[in-house]
Amino acid sequence: TGSHIDTQPTGGKFDGCFGVLAGLEVMRVLDEHGIETEAPLEVVIWTNEEGSRFVPVMMGSGVHAGLIPLEKALAATDRDGDSVAASLARTGYAGDVPVGSHDFGAYFEAHIEQGPVLEQEEITIGAVTGSLGLHWFDVVVSGQEAHAGPTPMPYRRDALKTACALVSDILTLADAYQPNGRVTCGEFNVHPNSRNVIPGQVRFSVDLRHLEPAVLAEMHDQLKALCLKHHAANQSDKQRVDIELIEVQHIPPTPFAPELIEMVRSASQELELSYRDMETGAGHDAVQIAGINPVAMIFVPCEDGISHNESENAEPSDLEDGANVLLLAMLKRAGIVSTNTDDANATHNTAENAQ
Ligand SMILES: [Zn+2]
Repeated sequence: TGSHIDTQPTGGKFDGCFGVLAGLEVMRVLDEHGIETEAPLEVVIWTNEEGSRFVPVMMGSGVHAGLIPLEKALAATDRDGDSVAASLARTGYAGDVPVGSHDFGAYFEAHIEQGPVLEQEEITIGAVTGSLGLHWFDVVVSGQEAHAGPTPMPYRRDALKTACALVSDILTLADAYQPNGRVTCGEFNVHPNSRNVIPGQVRFSVDLRHLEPAVLAEMHDQLKALCLKHHAANQSDKQRVDIELIEVQHIPPTPFAPELIEMVRSASQELELSYRDMETGAGHDAVQIAGINPVAMIFVPCEDGISHNESENAEPSDLEDGANVLLLAMLKRAGIVSTNTDDANATHNTAENAQ
């Protein structure tokens, strides 16, 4: 188990740190109660999850998972030209264990939700089933610039008029894919963007997200169909407008391990905590690790869903509940060999220790 302790320039104190401290607390509780597990347990602090000083983000977990070459990570520099390699050497954090040589059987990460769902629904635990895949596009709508005064409406090749109708349809597309579908048109460029010129070209972004690869592909098909429909509807000579769909980036969804997710659910149930399945829209170290080992995440609510902000906050009782779920889920996976106390309720004592 583990998470990260680096942050954003305006970051709060829970994003990442909660997962590391919850992991440490699990170890202390097991130690205090003399509980020995069948599988060995470890706490990890992944280097540079946020990427606020060195890019790429999720660097330590990415290197471990083989997604980022070690040389590339070590060569990354900050704004002052300082490299990751030099910084690790200076702080004494450059270890001598070969990357990827240290394997593990399962990885649990506790984290604040960084979104509003748990708080809004008054639910304590989010059993994270995976991370949303994303598919990014640019749509270019081309008509013809003309003077806003002398050009009567039937003679206009107005790119913005077509773009607005198309965007409206694209956003409605999300309705059929709830609760996990997300559709966003966040960036708009109107050319020439002048008050008295009919827009000749509009370029806008489309961000499609879903948890299931097949559904994300279906949303992509729908987007293509909408572009073709609006293109076909605007081919009369006097009002012709053309539409082009350009793919920008595609990151497939990452499902987490069903058997570990079930352990998070049943741990919540046994602790009599409210819980629900949910996906993560943000990147996490667990998402990188999911490529090589079974992973699961445990979300707890954060105030107003705010994160990457100094006002980030979470209730101590929620953090305690999250740590207890982490403890119980890890014990389910690791198995108990022996315990030298007869305190069968060790899991409920993290509360006192956390104070
Ligand atoms: Zn984080």
